[in-house]
Amino acid sequence: MRLIKQSKKLQDVRYDVRGPILVEAEKLEAQGHRILKLNIGNTAPFGFEAPDAVLRDMIHNLPQSQGYSDSRGIYSARTAVAHYYQSHGLTDVGVEDVFIGNGVSELISMVLQAFVDDGNEILIPAPDYPLWTGAVTLAGGTPVHYRCDESDDWNPDLADIEAKITGNTHALVVINPNNPTGAVYSEATVRGLVDLARRHDLVLMVDEIYEKILFEDAEHHHAATFAADDVLCLTFSGLSKAYRACGYRAGWLMVSGPKHLAADFLEGLTLLANMRMCANVPGQHAIQTALGGYQSINELIGPGGRFYEQSMTAWRLLNEIPGVSCVKPRGALYCFPRLDPAIYPIEDDQQFVIDLLRAEKILVTHGTGFNWFEPDHFRLVTLPDVDVLTEAVGRIASYLSAVRAG
Ligand code: PLP
Repeated sequence: MRLIKQSKKLQDVRYDVRGPILVEAEKLEAQGHRILKLNIGNTAPFGFEAPDAVLRDMIHNLPQSQGYSDSRGIYSARTAVAHYYQSHGLTDVGVEDVFIGNGVSELISMVLQAFVDDGNEILIPAPDYPLWTGAVTLAGGTPVHYRCDESDDWNPDLADIEAKITGNTHALVVINPNNPTGAVYSEATVRGLVDLARRHDLVLMVDEIYEKILFEDAEHHHAATFAADDVLCLTFSGLSKAYRACGYRAGWLMVSGPKHLAADFLEGLTLLANMRMCANVPGQHAIQTALGGYQSINELIGPGGRFYEQSMTAWRLLNEIPGVSCVKPRGALYCFPRLDPAIYPIEDDQQFVIDLLRAEKILVTHGTGFNWFEPDHFRLVTLPDVDVLTEAVGRIASYLSAVRAG
């Protein structure tokens, strides 16, 4: 038979978090090594469980979940999502503005397929969660990366965004709280981003999947509440992180702002939703219960809580390594440390990660995998318990000490 090749569409699409570095880790596992995988924000392997009420709700509803649902999602989940945003100040939204998807991932891809035409430029943060860049490329758009400023707690550089806006710019992507940096944007910053979208007539796409994972005095601000009725705002969130339920594949999209101007796009989005039938129905049933009632995430994010203590431990220990600096994460599940190029002159950070993996059996992800501009960062997932994380950072420190010794 002839050689079957991947489509040309995929030529420039990358998703390094599960790319060649994972293939290398699996090779080592096949040789009998135990690898500590700190490359993916998957809560379950680190002993986190979805809240009992969420699990019970899914089990209870399994018999009623055998058929396809409405392609935009079951009514109770969509109402719960609409109520959630209404209670956060977004009064002009209703059940008809909500789409439920197989995680935020599916909805990001569907939305981009529905409104990006060849050559449309989409502004994406650098560093980013790389699905955004990959999905824009796959949709035929051009990702344009704007700088988040490490010396300013990784806040987005609004002047850089403005400088990169052209006549082809179609949308502005914001990830808040941010993966991989752990930044949480102030009200003034969120308002600044909304204002940019307003002044340049851009669609605002806001990924808020970590909205409830906040440390110390960090507060989350929904961009949509400032976008009011004059900026089309597409807000993405779901159960994967705050409800420790990545595998249930339950995410949502909330459409707000001047929806009457977006009727054609929404018709296209509905077409795509129809073509994939519906999201996983058992996962959809968990949404109403998750959003209502007691939020067990609160036990994890305060002092003594695992998410908080682990993030702070990793952050503190990383900063103790010579030539390593890490901005304190204010939310989410990651540290994104910098390796001083004067001490660690890394040219290929993916190779650095593979060398670290081979030497210490720890898998992290290289910074350029998040579309960061220089090969001088890596991302560490802060999900293991404090003892395991302490050992892991210790092993990274001893590897780096060997690198320094030449
Ligand atoms: N957005 C961000 C910023 C993420 O970090 C992730 C997963 O790590 C996702 C979206 C994907 O979420 P989901 O599991 O809902 O597809």
